[in-house]
Amino acid sequence: MEYLDIDTLSSLQNHLAKLTGLYLSLYGERGNLIMPPVNENKLLSSLKALSKGRDEYHDFVKKNIEKALQRTDISFLKGPGEQYHFFIPIRIETSAFIVVGGGVFVSAADYDTFAKTAGAAYGFMPDQQKALLQEMTIKDYAELQDTARYIRSIFSLGLQSSHKGTFLEKRYRLMKTVFSLISEIQLEKQAAEIYDIMVDMILFLFNAESIAVMIRDNTVFKPYKSAGKFRDHLQSLPLKTTGLIAEVVDKQKPVNSESVMELLRLGFNDKITLMYAFPIISEDTVIGLLNIYNSVISQDDADIIFETCKMMGNCLKIVELQETYHKCLKEIDILNTATSRLIPVKEPDMLYETILDMSIYLTEAEKGSLMLVSDDTAYLTIKAAKGINRRLLTDIRIRAGEGIAGWVFREGVPLVMEDIEKNEWGFPKRHKYRTSSFISVPLKLDEKTIGVLNISDKISGEVFSAEDLALISSFAAYATIALERSTYYTLAGHLKELSVTDSLTGLFNRRYFEERFFEELNRSDRHNLSFSLAMIDIDDFKLFNDSEGHLAGDEILKSIANISKDCLRISDVIARFGGEEFAVIMPQTEKEEAILVSERIRKSIKEQIPSTWSVFPKKAITVSIGVATFPYDGKERKELIRNADKALYMAKMEGKDRTVIWQSKS
Ligand code: GH3
Ligand code: MG
Ligand code: MG
Repeated sequence: MEYLDIDTLSSLQNHLAKLTGLYLSLYGERGNLIMPPVNENKLLSSLKALSKGRDEYHDFVKKNIEKALQRTDISFLKGPGEQYHFFIPIRIETSAFIVVGGGVFVSAADYDTFAKTAGAAYGFMPDQQKALLQEMTIKDYAELQDTARYIRSIFSLGLQSSHKGTFLEKRYRLMKTVFSLISEIQLEKQAAEIYDIMVDMILFLFNAESIAVMIRDNTVFKPYKSAGKFRDHLQSLPLKTTGLIAEVVDKQKPVNSESVMELLRLGFNDKITLMYAFPIISEDTVIGLLNIYNSVISQDDADIIFETCKMMGNCLKIVELQETYHKCLKEIDILNTATSRLIPVKEPDMLYETILDMSIYLTEAEKGSLMLVSDDTAYLTIKAAKGINRRLLTDIRIRAGEGIAGWVFREGVPLVMEDIEKNEWGFPKRHKYRTSSFISVPLKLDEKTIGVLNISDKISGEVFSAEDLALISSFAAYATIALERSTYYTLAGHLKELSVTDSLTGLFNRRYFEERFFEELNRSDRHNLSFSLAMIDIDDFKLFNDSEGHLAGDEILKSIANISKDCLRISDVIARFGGEEFAVIMPQTEKEEAILVSERIRKSIKEQIPSTWSVFPKKAITVSIGVATFPYDGKERKELIRNADKALYMAKMEGKDRTVIWQSKS
């Protein structure tokens, strides 16, 4: 019993003493004086003031307290000076107290003995003794017994409530300390610091002899921090989840044991005779243990320690969340940087390189490759590689399901291999990798896998972690989008060009010509404007092809296209109308002006194309041109084109190498 509410008890002692007219004192279970006597009669205090009396009294009290501690009944005993004293044993929980009091004569015989002989033996002066005796009355023995029993019941209640009160106070103080220690745990504290605080707290607040904080690693609790007498032994001893420890894990409640067998079975040496194991719980799982050794812990203290462990579990969870949060923030930051590099890259080859570079950078790896699915979706081909000889890679095609990349491609799930050599997947060994750790992630867009990103050999020589996989997976998602976008741009670019231009000459194609011609008709019609259409046809081109070859003919087509384009204004549109026929739309152009433009084209072609041919009989490549003008020569598409064609036909008829303007009769 460490705490007693002495204030309350001593006021109780004073009241009872006055009420009963007896002296009262309180001793503890080791014979220690807790509350000195109050209300002693003058005779007793005078007796104790004399050396013989004092010694006798002390021996008497000491001897009888020891005896009383062995008893449950009240002892009534005659002490020094023929007076009676009582010894009341009171037990509260595990503690014992003795109330010593009385100090009265219970018979006339005793009174007389003191008056006649005993008093003088202590050294009282006759007058002094007489005066003291006059104040004394003789109590009835039975009455003294009743009074003592009455004192016992009142004191028991007092001691009990004092004990409860002080226990609650002690508990309150402990909890306050625990709380203030916990409140010291700031959010940026690491788990290690929380365990440190915990160890100190238990060691000092609960007087533990030896303690250990253990952290769970699957089925084993590993010593994290130990303190106290058997520190070294405890620090070297992991505990398996068996026996007592399994019970803590299953029940998520503290257990304790004094069983030598059980303790030896857990691996403790025979100096460990008592163990309390408290679970540290986070999110319904026992993540650690707080063990206290060789110290008896009261149920109440055990409750507090268990509560503390629960709070620690929560703190640890918060710390863990905090760490995850910071890691996520960092990851997001890295990803942001990485993905922002992808945004401006539109050219596919550059994009492949950038994606691979960033992947290698993010995972701190040395080697890697980016594989994309082929057009017919049957194979993966390597689009970019780092740390692997390029020549090894050309023409490498990986079938779905083949090897690691093929497997990841087919299954659409990432794969981290800690050790390729020991892979349980049964993939063939690959000795070209230094660390034999490997990450392969699918590049997935919705459910479609468009490729695989492979990373190997961490610079540090370590194996790839779950964090690496998480990071590269997030990045792969962005990379896939960038790849799709790039494909789209490329395709869209091709389509766009394909749809409006002629691949040989680079001029607009027939389809585009028709669109523009239609627009020009409508526009000119709406605004009452005229425009001209010129049809150009190469003279004797069949002969040229026949004598110089088709390829030479193609070159001529290209030259004519370029020369013609140079003769036109920005608003004019020239298109390859057919094989060796060209059409020119000249907006807001009357016949006279159209003649000038057409003639400029015809002359330029004739002059500018060098005569490099050997067999073709003509000195120069020439063209014939037929012109028709809206609205005079036709208001509709068909009519206008037919009239331009007719003019062209006339040019041919008239001897070629000339421009003919259609003249409508009306
Ligand atoms: P004309 O002076 O009457 O126009 O005589 P021509 O030989 O040019 O006759 P036509 O206009 O009918 O010519 C058609 C020839 O144009 C047939 C073909 O050899 C050639 N040709 C058409 N398209 C191409 C092409 O893309 N490349 C090449 N090299 N020749 C073409
Ligand atoms: Mg022709
Ligand atoms: Mg021709």
